[in-house]
Amino acid sequence: MPVNKPHLPGTLFVVAAPSGAGKSTLVNALLSKEDNIQLSVSYTTRAPRVGEIDGQSYHFTTVEDFLERQTKDEFIESAEVHGNYYGTSKAWINQALASGRDVLLEIDWQGAQQVRAHFPHMVGIFILPPSLMALQERLHKRGTDTEDVITRRLLAAGGEMAHAPEFEYVIINENLDSALRNLMHIVAAARLRFNQQFSRQPNLFYDLGIHAK
Ligand code: GDP
Ligand code: ADP
Ligand code: 5GP
Repeated sequence: MPVNKPHLPGTLFVVAAPSGAGKSTLVNALLSKEDNIQLSVSYTTRAPRVGEIDGQSYHFTTVEDFLERQTKDEFIESAEVHGNYYGTSKAWINQALASGRDVLLEIDWQGAQQVRAHFPHMVGIFILPPSLMALQERLHKRGTDTEDVITRRLLAAGGEMAHAPEFEYVIINENLDSALRNLMHIVAAARLRFNQQFSRQPNLFYDLGIHAK
């Protein structure tokens, strides 16, 4: 039997979408069904929306504090999106993945590119709306943003969706239940990749005479 267990890397999922495509709805539904995935809580300079809780939805902070953290290299990725800064804690991600936990990031395409530079085996998932009209309707229906903010997000949507080809998987969020099922299939398949299985059960693979790639 191997004396030292190999490093146990968790699986890293990165979900991106234009605002209003249903990213948070899908991710929250996934997390309520899957115990073994943890959502990274981003830092943001955006003001909290009604119902958003500091430390749970985001770590809400000031521009000054954000820039200071950036200077201290605390973010594995950071980006300006729709006029606000967003960033992901480097220490938190590294610790979670190193201890074998699966992690999900809900970030924009710029952040996804930066994360991929660190973790080439991350699983990128892009959520698309069934139409531009649906995107517009959902942003209005959500009722969390002013007309100005909604217009800004709709204008940005095309530029964001142009980055969908950089992601391994695409989910069209038309019917919520089937989109959620598809997301769960992706999670299940990613966990069955050889490297993930090997790192989770090294002793079984060793007993069966199978060696790492
Ligand atoms: P939403 O688009 O309606 O979900 O609005 P949010 O304000 O929650 O997110 C704004 C943008 O910032 C989205 O594109 C997110 O994917 C992105 N975002 C959120 N957290 C992060 C992060 O930690 N890093 C990066 N790079 N982008 C993030
Ligand atoms: P994002 O996080 O991508 O900005 P949200 O998850 O906040 O998007 O969803 C935007 C709005 O669209 C919310 O009001 C949500 O309830 C609604 N929504 C999400 N998925 C669907 C769907 N499949 N059909 C209809 N409405 C949806
Ligand atoms: P919202 O302000 O609506 O919560 O998010 C707007 C956009 O910012 C979304 O596309 C969201 O995914 C992205 N976003 C949220 N957190 C982060 C983050 O930490 N990093 C990056 N790059 N984007 C983020």
